[in-house]
Amino acid sequence: MVTTTEFSVAIAGAGLSGLCLAQYLTRAGIDVHVYERDPGPFVRRQGYRIILDRFGLEALRESLPRPLFRLVLATSDEPGGHLRFTDSRLRDAFTITFKDEAHATRQVDRLTLRSILQSGLDGRIHYGHSAIGVEESGRGRLRLHFSDGGAAEASVVVGADGVRSALRAQLMPDAEPANTPMAGVYGRSPLRRNGESVIPEPLRTSGVLSIADRPGRAFFFTSMRFGENPPDAFARLAPGSYAPTGDDYVMWGLLLRQVEVPFSFRGDLLALRELAARKSAGFHPLIQRLVDTAELDATVLNPFATGRRPRRWAVPRATMMGDAVHAMPPFGAHGGNTALRDAALLGSRLVEALASGTPVEDAITRYQNEMVPYAFRAVDTAAGLMRRLTGNAAAPHWVLTRVLPRLHRVTVPEA
Ligand SMILES: Cc1cc2nc3c(=O)[nH]c(=O)nc-3n(C[C@H](O)[C@H](O)[C@H](O)COP(=O)(O)OP(=O)(O)OC[C@H]3O[C@@H](n4cnc5c(N)ncnc54)[C@H](O)[C@@H]3O)c2cc1C
Repeated sequence: MVTTTEFSVAIAGAGLSGLCLAQYLTRAGIDVHVYERDPGPFVRRQGYRIILDRFGLEALRESLPRPLFRLVLATSDEPGGHLRFTDSRLRDAFTITFKDEAHATRQVDRLTLRSILQSGLDGRIHYGHSAIGVEESGRGRLRLHFSDGGAAEASVVVGADGVRSALRAQLMPDAEPANTPMAGVYGRSPLRRNGESVIPEPLRTSGVLSIADRPGRAFFFTSMRFGENPPDAFARLAPGSYAPTGDDYVMWGLLLRQVEVPFSFRGDLLALRELAARKSAGFHPLIQRLVDTAELDATVLNPFATGRRPRRWAVPRATMMGDAVHAMPPFGAHGGNTALRDAALLGSRLVEALASGTPVEDAITRYQNEMVPYAFRAVDTAAGLMRRLTGNAAAPHWVLTRVLPRLHRVTVPEA
């Protein structure tokens, strides 16, 4: 039996799941440290928003101190809204309406969420530490190794190092994700020009997936309006924590085939934005304007991959969470929510084991057995949606782009 005082957790990766688990364990009085590859907390723009569903929100409610959870809700967009599927000229095919309830679905700015998740973890997040492997160090402890030759010891190691995980090949040797034919070029554009919203009123609370006439191409956009301005909300609920500036924006993503992105463009922001402009030329003028006004340094290329179910967990007392296990294409907004759900579940299983004196290995096995079914349901759903919305199957594409839009009036005139 391990007692709370001699028990410690080392997490590789200070993304959504790693920080959420660190919050959960810190609240429970457990010694936890997070090791992050990036040299500092805000070196990458990550200028997009994510939709939190009931699983993500519940995980945050369980993990965060009350004022920080209130901060998530205070800075998020208003609840409710729609997801519209349209043709390339923004004529509606069909619409999904989200519940207008505070705890059902909320749109949050990812950078703001990360900042909230870091609050109160001073001295527990170590930047510039790139994890490369795990080994038994004896006396029931593990050693997490870093690329600079350093190492950290802990009772349990958790790999939360994202879709290109360095720990996966060792911890889940049969579960390397599969590549897909699709990728997204993401960008962000100011929501207001000369004081006016660039998004017309009928789309104010909508995410829009506009499907091109040719299969395999689509354009997504949605606006992110901060509920309360982050600096004000942080001053009230997390004084002393870093508050990102809260300018409202439009997040967009051009979905295209990976073969359409020349290899030399990867990491070249200007080339990526110009590619997005060329490939969105056939879409509604509103979409073209979004690409033309995009902030260059927020441009990101994301090749889509799908995780494979792990059959074997190779290192006892080491486990994994989030995209490192269950990478999925960003259809249906499940990736981050599933990652947060993993963190709260693993946190609760570890805390229960310590309280009841059951072996930590059993707690980790229970976590893995519960996580794999729900996480891979989400992977299958996301991959299925991607195939239906961007695949080559002629009938669904024809119905979405030719039949259904004719049944609706024009939503956004092309003036
Ligand atoms: C444009 C876009 C929109 C999205 N929208 C949504 C949405 O609406 N809803 C939703 O649920 N999900 C969404 N997602 C998916 C979501 O962002 C991810 O699923 C989520 O961030 C996964 O969390 P994670 O903790 O597993 O990994 P991440 O948040 O990616 O964090 C991994 C961390 O590990 C660090 N790291 C990497 N390698 C190492 C290493 N070797 N050692 C130490 N640290 C390392 C990375 O720097 C990073 O900080 C979206 C994704 C994209 C790209």
